[in-house]
Amino acid sequence: MSETPYRGRLAPSPTGLLHLGHAATFRAAQERARSAAGRIVLRIEDLDRERCRPEFVDSLLDDLRWAGLTWDEGPFWQSERGDVYLAAWRVLAAAGLVYPCRCTRKDLARALSAPHAEDEQAEPIYPGTCRPPEAQPRPETEPGSSNWRFRVPGGEVIEFVDGHHGPQRFVAGVDFGDFLVWRRDSVPSYQLAVVADDAAMGITEVVRGADLLRSTALQILLYRALGAPPPAWHHVPLVLGPDGRRLAKRAGAHSLRELRQLAIVSGSDSVRCSSHDAGQSFSP
Ligand code: GLU
Repeated sequence: MSETPYRGRLAPSPTGLLHLGHAATFRAAQERARSAAGRIVLRIEDLDRERCRPEFVDSLLDDLRWAGLTWDEGPFWQSERGDVYLAAWRVLAAAGLVYPCRCTRKDLARALSAPHAEDEQAEPIYPGTCRPPEAQPRPETEPGSSNWRFRVPGGEVIEFVDGHHGPQRFVAGVDFGDFLVWRRDSVPSYQLAVVADDAAMGITEVVRGADLLRSTALQILLYRALGAPPPAWHHVPLVLGPDGRRLAKRAGAHSLRELRQLAIVSGSDSVRCSSHDAGQSFSP
């Protein structure tokens, strides 16, 4: 039995209204923390300045409370934690685990957000154009105005046991390639920021959607590179919409806002989602 007290987190991105999928994930996170008599940290993942909007922050805090989702620490804002990410970048640079990359691909724009399933499928493996043949430690360097990629150990098998999905296996260089950790506009990627934060906040278990299972393999490499112990992983099944696809904020589907309105109109304190994830009922 672990002696470290359980610490979990809710990590919403204010890029749209929270939907039923978020509620299901956050509910699972809360239940797991409660059953372990642990604590929950709320972290607002607002690195993507173009997509994050203040009104979504207000609505997400409000919707979380309405849904009975509580936290013990925070909210913390990723946009205010640049020093933590720069310190992490420096560790990687000193160890020669990152290299500057001049390629400007679509993945640069996407690097700030968690890569959910459909984004992953669209993302090609980086062909290694800017990768130096040998690792080059850079103890004195600043990131400056370059993009930086993490050198993945090609062929290495990354395995972990997920609390819900069981044993997982990914191969570096096959299932994913060298990934961005830093953008030339001084913003860390989602992958680096989430690991630096979870490590700094002492998170012992990450509970999130199943479409981030592959990201976990990348993040395990970052934990190792940063010399931090990885947390336990628990990926919650996705809530699907009537079309069988994952609910997306941009579709505005099944937002907690909408459900809240329905609850008010019907005078009910319980709303049933009519999609074929069905059976998932949601009672605030
Ligand atoms: N902020 C991410 C999202 O809303 C969550 C990423 C994570 O839990 O690691 O998709």
